Amino acid sequence: MGVTNKQLKNTVNKIKDKLISIRRDIHMYPELGFEEKRTASIIEKELSSLGIEVKTGVAGTGLVGLIKGRQEKPVVGLRADMDALSITEKNKSSYISRNKGKMHACGHDGHIAILLGVAEVLSAFKEDIPGQVKLIFQPAEEGPGGALPMIEEGVLDNPKVDIILGLHLWQDIPVGKIGIRDGAEFASVDEFDLIIKGKAAHGASPHQGVDAILTASQVINSLQSIVSRNVAPTEAAVITVGKINGGYRRNIIADEVNLEGTVRCFSAELRDMIEKRMEEIISGICQGTGCTYILDYRREYPPLINTPEINRQIKSVVGDLIGQDSVITLQKPTLGGEDFAFFLEKVPGSFFLLGSGNIEKGITAPQHSSYHNIDEDAIPLGVEILTNLVFQLSNKFLEKKL
Ligand SMILES: [Zn+2]
Ligand SMILES: [Zn+2]
Repeated sequence: MGVTNKQLKNTVNKIKDKLISIRRDIHMYPELGFEEKRTASIIEKELSSLGIEVKTGVAGTGLVGLIKGRQEKPVVGLRADMDALSITEKNKSSYISRNKGKMHACGHDGHIAILLGVAEVLSAFKEDIPGQVKLIFQPAEEGPGGALPMIEEGVLDNPKVDIILGLHLWQDIPVGKIGIRDGAEFASVDEFDLIIKGKAAHGASPHQGVDAILTASQVINSLQSIVSRNVAPTEAAVITVGKINGGYRRNIIADEVNLEGTVRCFSAELRDMIEKRMEEIISGICQGTGCTYILDYRREYPPLINTPEINRQIKSVVGDLIGQDSVITLQKPTLGGEDFAFFLEKVPGSFFLLGSGNIEKGITAPQHSSYHNIDEDAIPLGVEILTNLVFQLSNKFLEKKL
């Protein structure tokens, strides 16, 4: 490549302080999914000031910037999510959240700063970029999900994205290291609401009613047999009933119980199987007890599956930058969800974790904690890693090695 890492790193160092202040500014004014108006206006201003063509209002509050390099192909897509969580921050920093009950407790403020840094560094070396770079600022990752509506609005087309990368600042990994995993990294996330209907009666005359509570208890128990008896013991899946509500008082047979739950796993086949078995079990038990039911099963995020070929390149490029020892192969996936999975269903790519924890600095609170913070040294490193990857992956693509 025409540009050396030294040149990129020097440019990153020059803008490091600016990126940290952007991160802190966004941290002070967190906005929930699809409400990221102020956040979007900061991003728009920054991209425009760099002369980058920017489309706003994609999937509501999302933005897409396009950096044009030497030729049209390949197009590397880079994604940062923009939303905060409904959490009250308990940190003592000068840049603590000013929006009560809202907090950037997952590091998305850092993701925005990193991608704006990438935009600035790449703009400085535009003539050297082999193809084009699409900067995707996505709303509502924490829910209800901004990736799918962005895709439906054509974010991966015109020009068509050939490779897509995302990163997530990650507390469990020390700053200066990355975590990467081939294949499944995050689980599919589905939700269900189940209403079981029976017939009310006096608690002393259960034979005159149909007990929805007894039926619900059988359903809850039997749903657990899907994981223990239908899923191979070497694979992982979760069925959790997290909420149950029903009945009136101790001496009335309840005629209705409402259940809410989540289902997670790592493959499309398993996902189909679990949904099918759930319906079969619920319907079988209800038939046996005389209840009726309404099951509303909703597919939210698919499992996040990385492309091993692209991971291989990332491990090599990032290993050269930070040392192979600092590239951690994640042994296990997490049953958390991440809607970057929708992009990876359409385009080869990778989603890797960038360490943001630092025990010495006391930065140890997990993601989604009201004490969560990031080691801001991860921001310039993230920019350095992504800018290098844009050049290296584009070249490999053109050499037909991807
Ligand atoms: Zn999160
Ligand atoms: Zn997150």
